[in-house]
Amino acid sequence: MSDHDSLPLQSPILNYERTHDLERLKFAINSSEDGIWEYNIQTNITSVSKRWLDIIGYEENEYQSSVESWKSLLHPDDREQALGILLNSIANKIESAHVRYRVRHKNGQWIWIHDRAKILFDSDGTPLIVAGFRTDITKQIELENHNEELAAIVQNASIEVYVLNAKTLQYVYANDGALKSLGYSLDELKNLTLKDINPELTDEQIDIFRQYLNHISPVLSNISRHKRKNGSFYPVQASIHKLMYQGQASVVTFDTDISELTATQDQLRHLATHDALTGLPNRILFHDRLQMAIKKNQRKKEKIAVLFVDLDHFKQINDSLGHPVGDKLLILVAKRLQTLLRESDTIARMGGDEFNILVDEITNTEILIDISEKLVHAFQEPFMIDKHRLYATLSIGISIYPEDGASTEVLLKNADTAMYRAKNEGRNTYRFYADEMGEKAFERVVMENALRIALKENQFTVYYQPQVNLLNGQWVGMEALVRWNHPTLGIVSPVNFIPLCEETGLIQEIDFFVLENVIKQHIEWGKMGLYVPKTAVNFSAKTLANRHIAKEVKSIMKFYHCTPQCIAIEVTESQIMHNPQEVIEILGELKDLGLEISVDDFGTGYSSLSYLKRFPIDKLKIDQSFIHDIPNDEEDMAITKTIIGLAHNLKLDVIAEGVETIEHQKFLIENGCFLGQGYLFSKPLDTEAITVQLRINADSGESF
Ligand code: C2E
Ligand code: MG
Ligand code: MG
Repeated sequence: MSDHDSLPLQSPILNYERTHDLERLKFAINSSEDGIWEYNIQTNITSVSKRWLDIIGYEENEYQSSVESWKSLLHPDDREQALGILLNSIANKIESAHVRYRVRHKNGQWIWIHDRAKILFDSDGTPLIVAGFRTDITKQIELENHNEELAAIVQNASIEVYVLNAKTLQYVYANDGALKSLGYSLDELKNLTLKDINPELTDEQIDIFRQYLNHISPVLSNISRHKRKNGSFYPVQASIHKLMYQGQASVVTFDTDISELTATQDQLRHLATHDALTGLPNRILFHDRLQMAIKKNQRKKEKIAVLFVDLDHFKQINDSLGHPVGDKLLILVAKRLQTLLRESDTIARMGGDEFNILVDEITNTEILIDISEKLVHAFQEPFMIDKHRLYATLSIGISIYPEDGASTEVLLKNADTAMYRAKNEGRNTYRFYADEMGEKAFERVVMENALRIALKENQFTVYYQPQVNLLNGQWVGMEALVRWNHPTLGIVSPVNFIPLCEETGLIQEIDFFVLENVIKQHIEWGKMGLYVPKTAVNFSAKTLANRHIAKEVKSIMKFYHCTPQCIAIEVTESQIMHNPQEVIEILGELKDLGLEISVDDFGTGYSSLSYLKRFPIDKLKIDQSFIHDIPNDEEDMAITKTIIGLAHNLKLDVIAEGVETIEHQKFLIENGCFLGQGYLFSKPLDTEAITVQLRINADSGESF
């Protein structure tokens, strides 16, 4: 207490009697947390309690209480306001005044004071005394400031902050960032619930959310999409916390707009699931879509189709015009496919020149015929690339779910198989995978295997069929014809296995097997003292495609000391016409070995006369189909005559196949063909039977 001992004795506001309570009152005043002060307006005397001196850090003897000394402690910024409020209250006869201001502590720091003053007026309204309580509220102000700062940070944060009522999930607060992103005002938002802003949240997700609220879990993270006031959406990553807000159990969510992140992720996902060249979905995405379609369809009765599309002859275009042109073509092909199909159909580039199309929700499979025909038809039109007019037709294989397969793998495999059938059957067309096709493919695999075993286990044998002089029946040659002596099936005709051998390349081994067998047999017959006519061996075009064939034939002949008089070669007309330029060269090399060369099945292969002239050949073999209906079919007879005439003109020998009747023989002789082969003279015979015949011939004095 200062020198002013009048306090509290003179304090009218305390209005205590000057009694024995004085000591207790003094004690109470001094032990109060608040500093007490009094100013007598009439006398201009002030007094303060010791507590006030403690608050501002002064000892009793260091502080002279006066209005001036109080004013000198006031913060310059607060001085005017503090005085103003007090003076205003006095002037307006208001009995109390509350004011906050800063005063300088003795240590130089500013402290915050909350001053509550009471003003005592006399009956005339003249102010007599002002007195009050001063509380150090520095800590409280700091806390308030801190809270305000935090609130401002939250309010201005770019992250979206929301507070929701935990029970109703109704919004109670949102910061500026949130309101700006959504386009709502706070009042509008307060009428909405979590589901309004996150309409894509499923009930299940909301349940999880509620469970989280009921359990002690520190934080929940979630990705959802917010719906803006204007109806558009944006993705957010939310971090959800529980807290008490304004006395209510609440949820605060911090949501980050992840549009950019999702856009980058989408871009990466796009790159991983699309073909860079054409922009079409790639193999991965196609598998996904097909799988999804199957899943979706399991409940429905609709069908799904996979169209496996392969460009015909793309490799040639790529090889001859270069990859840049090939790439441009693929881009145009992709575009053309897109224009022909529905937007809902998935068109994918599976790699190279392979495209897959997924057509779902098919109620009638006839539609697939329409689609395939439309595609095949549209690809008859050429593509113009760098002034090149390029034709790229399509071969399409179709598999249908569920009948052609229940899984993506099987459907794709079967569409692929069907596509190969379309290729094999002339390209530029489409084929459906049917169940029996699978069986055929299976048979094929079994057959191919069996043929390989047959080669290893020597199940092939050679039959011989004589070729005769039609005038006198004398043998002028023989043809070696392969047979498959299958352990359980018995003798299998070459028409049943040669095509497959040609496809698989096994034919070359078979042709050489026959060649070597014939040469060895000739040696055997030689040892028996039998004279054997020249024997023709059939060479497939696939065998001729081997550039070293002449060398190989030569080395075999050399090995067995076989002269070219022993053997001849037969090549079918259709096969040599396939690639005439190359065949001319190879046949030339064989001819140079001294071998006679015949063109087999002549008349069926549409020979070009200009080529025929250049072929190094010796003989034409009229195909048996022209002989068969002689003398009934005028046209066949005309053709046969033409072939004979052609052979004469080209100075080639001519022989007829399939001579079965005397009429055939007569007709041929009459028209100048004097050589023949057929059942009329002999069927093809095995080695044993032919050897018997050769011996009979020898005994009858036939010589060659
Ligand atoms: P190809 O070379 O035209 O052989 C003649 C075919 O006509 C033989 O059938 C023969 O049995 C049959 N034939 C002979 N005379 C008559 C007749 O009077 N009437 C009728 N209807 N048919 C007759 P095969 O032995 O079944 O051979 C069929 C085809 O298989 C051969 O036709 C040939 O193209 C091919 N082939 C046979 N062996 C070989 C071989 O070792 N290598 C190659 N690459 N092909 C072979
Ligand atoms: Mg032949
Ligand atoms: Mg023939």
